[in-house]
Amino acid sequence: MTSKLLLVKYAEIHLKGQNRPYFQRLLLRNVRQAVKHLNADAQLYDSRIFVTGYADESACIDAITKVFGVHAVCPAVQIDKNDFDAICDLAADLMKDVSGSFKVAARRADKRFFLDSPQICAQVGAHILRNNKQLKVDVHQPDHVLNVEIRDQALLYVKTYPAVGGLPTGTAGRAMLLLSGGIDSPVAGFRIAKRGVQLSAVYYHSFPYTGEPVKEKIISLAKILTAYCGPIRLFVVPFTEIQQAIHEKCPDDFTTLIMRRNMMRIADMLADKNKALALITGESIGQVASQTLEALACTDEVVSRPVFRPLIGMDKLEIIKEAQQIGTYETSCLPYEDCCTVFTPRHPVTHPKLRQAQLAERPLLDDDLLEQMIQRAVEGTEVIDLKP
Ligand code: ATP
Ligand code: MG
Repeated sequence: MTSKLLLVKYAEIHLKGQNRPYFQRLLLRNVRQAVKHLNADAQLYDSRIFVTGYADESACIDAITKVFGVHAVCPAVQIDKNDFDAICDLAADLMKDVSGSFKVAARRADKRFFLDSPQICAQVGAHILRNNKQLKVDVHQPDHVLNVEIRDQALLYVKTYPAVGGLPTGTAGRAMLLLSGGIDSPVAGFRIAKRGVQLSAVYYHSFPYTGEPVKEKIISLAKILTAYCGPIRLFVVPFTEIQQAIHEKCPDDFTTLIMRRNMMRIADMLADKNKALALITGESIGQVASQTLEALACTDEVVSRPVFRPLIGMDKLEIIKEAQQIGTYETSCLPYEDCCTVFTPRHPVTHPKLRQAQLAERPLLDDDLLEQMIQRAVEGTEVIDLKP
């Protein structure tokens, strides 16, 4: 009797010492979540995750290779380890459609097995050669490796699908991603989530200057990210009143900077409420006027927690390449205006001094106007829960 399964391998978790069970548990939970819609289930056994019960193998592989913390996925066949002839026949059968060179790699988790690893390699290898005349052995640089693992059962596999790597989502706390419809911010979120950080996201919606399609685009982008990092709570903040007030009351060249300070203030408040330990943006030095070192210092002044900018030293072309790999690029390129382009000043200040920014913002502070507008924005925030 043989049965098929997917063997899920992880890498960095092995270094975690006493914390390893915690990382394994969260990875197992995340893999389960990623394959649930395919009716598959996952079990942890012997430092490996085994996925079974799926009908669509390639969809399942596709879903698992995206889960942060997974290093590789191998479609394997499981067989009774006590029938060594059947193991050899299965190995020969698995190699019948490949050509070139091969070797056998054996791993004996069950040390009581009657052959040791070199003996398994020699005997299985000889049987493969006898039955597949197109193949030759190369133990140094083989085109293919047939793996035999002896555990409760014997496991055989040839193909390995590399996965995204990183650490399991949820092992490193939570952060709030400022998610716009552009190319950059989804990539920024991906990079931080890859290290185990659970994402929440905030989008500032300036209806009717930005319409429903933009909001739908943001939801699609967040949804694409959930395939890697699991559920995301998205906050859609009504931002029109604040943006209009900035436009009316503040000097034109400072409006973008002041808008960004207020995005950060609100993100900081939402982060407080939702136990997010840091903010994430898609900024990169010099990309636009609000991303010079001086401007970044002016935006950071209003927040109380670390701001992560994982793209800070990247070129646009590098960011685009990564967006294409992640799968957010096409959606990001849908041609809807974001609020920043609607209200963009003609000559935004590029080297603002903090004192100047504070002065430019002062008209908003009369009669607690800004405080009240921010309160209304936070109260009017829509919460959307997204799942893989
Ligand atoms: P992106 O391509 O991600 O839109 P960008 O190059 O257009 O970035 P900006 O518009 O200056 O740059 O925005 C810088 C960062 O501020 C974005 O990467 C994002 O993190 C955040 N941001 C901008 N606009 C919004 C918005 N409407 N809602 C939420 N976050 C935003
Ligand atoms: Mg943008």
